[in-house]
Amino acid sequence: MTSRDGFQWTPQNGLKQGVPSIGVISPSTKITSNTPWDVIVIGAGYSGLTATRDMCVAGLNVLLLEARDRIGGRSWSSNIEGYPFEMGGTWVHWHQANVWREISRYQMGEELEPSFDFSRGVNYFELRTDKHSTTMSHEEEDTLLATALEKFVNVDGDMGRIIVPFPYAGFHNPDARKYDKMSVLDRLNVISQSLTPNERTGLESFILLCSCGTLETTSFFEFLHWWALCGYTYRGCMDCLISFKFKQGQSSFAIKFFNEALSTGSLSYAFDSPVKSIQDEDKKVTVTTRDGRSFTASRLVTTIPLNVLNDITFNPPLDPIRTQATKIGHVNQCVKVHAEISNKDMRSWTGISYPFNKLTYAIGDGTTPAGNTHIVCFGGQHNHIQPEEDVNATKAAVTSMAPGNMDIQRLVSFPGIPLFEEIANKLKVFHNWSKDEFAKGAWFFSPPGFISSSLDALRQRHGNILFSNSDWAIGWRSFIDGAIEEGTRAALTVKEELRSTRLRSHL
Ligand code: FAD
Repeated sequence: MTSRDGFQWTPQNGLKQGVPSIGVISPSTKITSNTPWDVIVIGAGYSGLTATRDMCVAGLNVLLLEARDRIGGRSWSSNIEGYPFEMGGTWVHWHQANVWREISRYQMGEELEPSFDFSRGVNYFELRTDKHSTTMSHEEEDTLLATALEKFVNVDGDMGRIIVPFPYAGFHNPDARKYDKMSVLDRLNVISQSLTPNERTGLESFILLCSCGTLETTSFFEFLHWWALCGYTYRGCMDCLISFKFKQGQSSFAIKFFNEALSTGSLSYAFDSPVKSIQDEDKKVTVTTRDGRSFTASRLVTTIPLNVLNDITFNPPLDPIRTQATKIGHVNQCVKVHAEISNKDMRSWTGISYPFNKLTYAIGDGTTPAGNTHIVCFGGQHNHIQPEEDVNATKAAVTSMAPGNMDIQRLVSFPGIPLFEEIANKLKVFHNWSKDEFAKGAWFFSPPGFISSSLDALRQRHGNILFSNSDWAIGWRSFIDGAIEEGTRAALTVKEELRSTRLRSHL
């Protein structure tokens, strides 16, 4: 099945909207009951899938409403000629306890594979700036980035361990709050004298790879929080953030949650059903979709992300702090582009092109069934591009990650192919998260001051409505793990409340 989401570009067919995925659900609607539901869940990303599954397994009568034609939300994979390009959330790690609990539940531990493979010919790191281009070994890359990052995070003489000792209680040390007021640029200004030019370039691009905002709009505390979750080391960051993915793609994981919920017989669902308004009354909550259908339940779990929550009308209105937080939103406008290139040896290449290029950070991420190298590239708000609006600029940005370096010699070994760029840009796949009306951004990353002012309010309920999303998780906020953490929390609350209501009504 092909989802409406995402884009593919090939030299033969040009740009096409829509990407095939096993996450597309058909039939799109299955409603087995007309009675009020115990609970409605809005959103079939990992928060919504976890909450739905847990409540179905507990015997509750659940209705799942989703705006898209597919499950997975901001984490989904394509299936193009048998290869899973990851359109959103990709990498998972066993240090992420919620995600690993689910991987164990579905016995998928053996279905992971490493992204990096440093065994091929172009086995080096390329650092390109406005002024020069340098290549170095991957060991030198690690040393450069680790040294720069350690200078950046070492606010307490112990690599941030004193300031953020418990990442699941971010402000356990109250001194951490002052770092939430700082942007990463503020922190860079403090340490700028100690950084070499290459360290500065590597550091800025690594930070922007994490936030996909700008240096001014990225909270320094939030970066410290990620650092703490990753075990206070650069190596930990690489392992947890960008190393291990599903061989068959994220949608092969998400579908397990959906199928388990479905197997209980307690699940009704409607895809292609964007919600417009939510009315909360004394003992019930009513959800109305854009096409005018209304559904009622005892409880509602909304997993609508932060940057689009403001598009829903709530009655009674949301509290002022949450409303203000949804107006501010998170800053992540990641651009993630996959390119399939003919040079097999680029499998072992990594690169940074910053600040001039529209794509900043890229790695060899796999080999497609056709034997081509799959390169994944990231850009962000600091030098933003809308890939489908300017395919040539996107091609140029991919090529500019390693110009000529996608081997002129290699080109020679492919006689008959006239243009290097034709080879380099065989296929491109992407999802424009910035223009996605059900996300308006990629993974959560907070601007300065946001966590101090808004996190607690975002986690509060509103009458019969519970709010569940990775964007306001406590632990791996921004990650699939945080989505599962949140879905688990919402399901537990609803299960306990409805159980006690039912017990009372039997007395
Ligand atoms: P979502 O996935 O956003 O789910 C919310 C759902 O609500 C969506 O399906 C949406 O369609 C639906 N919805 C929204 N509005 C409405 C409406 N009005 N009516 C009905 N439904 C609606 N995480 C990692 O762990 N590892 C990674 O490598 C990683 N990389 C990422 C790369 C990218 C490009 C992106 C975008 C994200 C990445 N993430 C990664 C983050 C991760 O994908 C998210 O944190 C996680 O998927 C969020 O899950 P969620 O269920 O909380 O929210």
